[in-house]
Amino acid sequence: MKCEHCTRKECSKKSKTEDAEDVSAEASASPARAGGEKCDTSEHKVLVVSVCPQSLPYFAAKFSLSVTDASRRLCGFLKGLGVHYVFDTTIAADFSILESQREFVRRYQQHGQDACALPMLTSACPGWVRYAERVLGRPVTPHLCTAKSPQQVMGSLVKDYFARQQNLSPEKIFHVIVAPCYDKKLEALREGFPAALHGSRGVDCVLTSGEIAQIMEQSDLSVKDAAVDTLFGDCREERVGRRDGAGADGYLAHVFRHAAKELFDEHVEEVTYRALRNRDFQEVTLEKNGEVLLRFAAAYGFRNIQNMVLKLKRGRLPYHFVEVLACPEGCLNGRGQARTEDGQADKALLRQMEGIYSALPVHPPETSAHVQALYQEWLEGSDSPKVQEALHTTFQSPEHCTDSLDIKW
Ligand code: SF4
Repeated sequence: MKCEHCTRKECSKKSKTEDAEDVSAEASASPARAGGEKCDTSEHKVLVVSVCPQSLPYFAAKFSLSVTDASRRLCGFLKGLGVHYVFDTTIAADFSILESQREFVRRYQQHGQDACALPMLTSACPGWVRYAERVLGRPVTPHLCTAKSPQQVMGSLVKDYFARQQNLSPEKIFHVIVAPCYDKKLEALREGFPAALHGSRGVDCVLTSGEIAQIMEQSDLSVKDAAVDTLFGDCREERVGRRDGAGADGYLAHVFRHAAKELFDEHVEEVTYRALRNRDFQEVTLEKNGEVLLRFAAAYGFRNIQNMVLKLKRGRLPYHFVEVLACPEGCLNGRGQARTEDGQADKALLRQMEGIYSALPVHPPETSAHVQALYQEWLEGSDSPKVQEALHTTFQSPEHCTDSLDIKW
């Protein structure tokens, strides 16, 4: 496996073929391909695929379908390959955003006593987090939000909550994520083996949207469209939605609204972004009677990240919160999907994906009844030790990064 920023060609080739082969091996052992009979899990693993919402506009654009039809086509294809369950990671992103909101409010209230409480920097992008952990270390890592990323939360949901619903031990599930970038492959390894998952990883394998599209194009499977599953068995298919905000990630806009309400009792209807140095460095402020109450920023791409880090180290970063994404223009532009055949950025495809994504309805995470129910049923309340274990993480410093997977920045 490799990071997007690793330059070794042989490493890249190996990662792509190995991951696709892992999934093929699990799928070909599955009886679902032969006709959908019930699984005998003493013989093989239950194969679960979770799809990131940022991957769907890619499939929609690539196959000239609506997002809903693209989701059904992808799901039908995966089921035809032998996958037992196909989920959408939106519910995991809901948890991640809700925990980030709460952490921001807590940090804001504590920042008088704790110099590292603010600015809070988002931690959902593994490209950025790996850079912070392995290269930047202590001056930066205490500022990272401890909420797990959507991929990490989905790992817990599938291998803990869903496994228990199905009466399975976590290692009886092989969990694959479909994502827009290669950095998610390293993120899957970063988590190690959480105690709650009894020696199993939350995510066993990550395939990029482009890798899946390649498998689809090379396959002669006749595909019947199918509805995406939900973790709740009998629920009907959920409508595909999107996050508010500039970069298809949605942390800034949702945390901003929540903080304005919780800290200043201000209701924010429209979040207005102001481009500063370039369109990948934007600012959002909450002002009252000429006073700035909240100052948030979005910093995308390494040029902007490096400027931000320089200011942070000098104590001159004027923000309470920064949404940080390694890819310029955000996750739709992940290198696992917005690329031409020769590996160059495909701007036309990206613009098409942006148009498709922005037309989706916004689903605020607070409105998900399933998430609220899971806080009670799965996590034993919103302030329980289980929330800490399943939804939060810690960060390493360079001297403590012991794994052998390296990145060339
Ligand atoms: S910004 Fe890029 S590297 Fe980061 S999670 Fe999104 S697609 Fe992956």
